[in-house]
Order: sequence, then C-alpha cells, then structure tokens
Amino acid sequence: MKDYLIRGMDKHGRIRVFVASTTKMVEDARRTHNTSPTATAALGRTLTAGVIMGSMMKNSQDVLTLKIAGDGPGGTIYIVSKNNGRVKGYIDNPSADVPSREDGKLDVGKLVGKNGTITTIMDLGLKDPYVGQSNIVTGEIAEDLANYYAYSEQQPSAVSLGVLVDRDISVKAAGGYIIQLLPGISDEDIDKIENTLSSIEPVSTMIDKGLSPEDIMDRILGDFQMEVLDKTDLIYQCDCSREKIERVIMSLGREEIQNIIEEDGEAEVVCHFCNSKYKFSKEELLEFLIDN
Ligand SMILES: [Zn+2]
Repeated sequence: MKDYLIRGMDKHGRIRVFVASTTKMVEDARRTHNTSPTATAALGRTLTAGVIMGSMMKNSQDVLTLKIAGDGPGGTIYIVSKNNGRVKGYIDNPSADVPSREDGKLDVGKLVGKNGTITTIMDLGLKDPYVGQSNIVTGEIAEDLANYYAYSEQQPSAVSLGVLVDRDISVKAAGGYIIQLLPGISDEDIDKIENTLSSIEPVSTMIDKGLSPEDIMDRILGDFQMEVLDKTDLIYQCDCSREKIERVIMSLGREEIQNIIEEDGEAEVVCHFCNSKYKFSKEELLEFLIDN
C-alpha cells in the first residue's frame, strides 16, 4: 500500500482530522540511517507527526522543522517537512538502543528521555519564523505533541503515532493521526471521541491489518459525518544538492574557509538527512574565497 495522508472535517466544521499511513516512508528512513529498532520507532513516530504537521501549512514554500531534544541515549530528533508530503529527518544516535519495556514494547520514552523540549519552527516566508516550544512529558512522542498543542498552540488535540518493527528489524507498519477539536464542539461529542480513543486498537495494528487512512478515520470518528477534504502522497526525500552545500560553505566566511584549506586541504560535507557525501577540492575551496 502506498503511503498517504488524508485531511478530513466533520460537516459542522468542529472536528478536523489528519490520518497518515507511513510504513514505506519510515522504512526508507530506517534504511537511510540504519537505526536500531527503538530508534526506528522514535524517528518513525516523529517523522509521521512531522509530515502531518507540515501538511497543515498553507504554501508550498513553507518549511516546518520539528525538533525533539530529550536527555535519553538517542539524542535529538530533527524532522523537516513541507506541505506536499515530502519529509526528511534524522536522530543524533541512530544505533543507540534500550531494552524493551516489561510489556514487550519498544521503550521509546527511555531512548528519547523525559527531560527536554519539543520545538517547532515554521518558516512561512515572513521576516521571522514562527517558533513554538513545550516540555517533553513522557518521551513517547504522541503524548508530548498533544501537550505541545495544548500549551503552545492552545489547540486541544488527540495525537496517536505508531511504528511496528518486524523480527528482521524492518518496518512492518507505521502511521498516525491527529484529531483537532475546533470551537463549538460539545462536551458530549468530546466524551464520544475520548471513549472511542480509549478502546481503539493502536494505529500501527490497524495499518498492519491493512486498514487505509479512510478506514481508520471511520473507526475513530465513525459517529460523525466526516468528509475527506484532500489526500497527499507521502515520500521520504532529501532535497540536498551540491549547490545548497556550496552555499553553506560560502556562509562560513573567508576566515573559516581559509582555515579549512590550511588544515585539511579539502572539505567533505555529509548531509545529516540522507548521508550523501559532498567533496570539495582545494581548488574549489579557493574559488569560494574569490567569490566570497
Ligand atoms: Zn541530503
């Protein structure tokens, strides 16, 4: 099944929902970064959240950065996404792993750590980017994002994210949803949604059973008349290029480039998001000095 995201709304405009299937996207990230099983789950949950949050932006030039910086052995997780379903990300220590929990589940909370912050940076093409921040609550990502929405955005939201890692450590199923309660919703409707969410299967189980995002929307909000507003294909994709890396080197300034030439004689830059290597010879670096 292809990865995609749907955006849905009830007919009264009081419930907005985003549901994503992200199995292939998370598997592509796992292969790129060679992550441990727990790091696959941590990165995969955050990628799923990042691609959903990116889809909430209006313009194709808008860029969302989601950063989860806990004090666990995994280190910081970075996600960059746009509103077109393209997402990339990495975790500082992809090989870090922790023992599973007593219930057999991967201990994402321990890998991420409970002390730290969630930061979102939205570059909407304005003078200053929009920055929101909140504290990590459990390190399990979904709870942390629900807390982020409540405190930083004053937007009551239910967040569910899941990654099922197979015995051969590949990704068996991944996906997630964010439900946003909009002004005008009744307490009765909120109770209904909470009741459903407390008894429903984990999202990764539903994806593993072959349920589509539309099926999942039906399971979680079947009591409401929901309509799918749009559908976006999701792809793990890095947009780095030699030209972009050149601009990064140029931005270091004359002195720093001169230091690199004197100390190393050449430069090798590795993209964090896709591990592509870019090599620059002494001659090329000298040319940057002329242009700088
Ligand atoms: Zn790259």
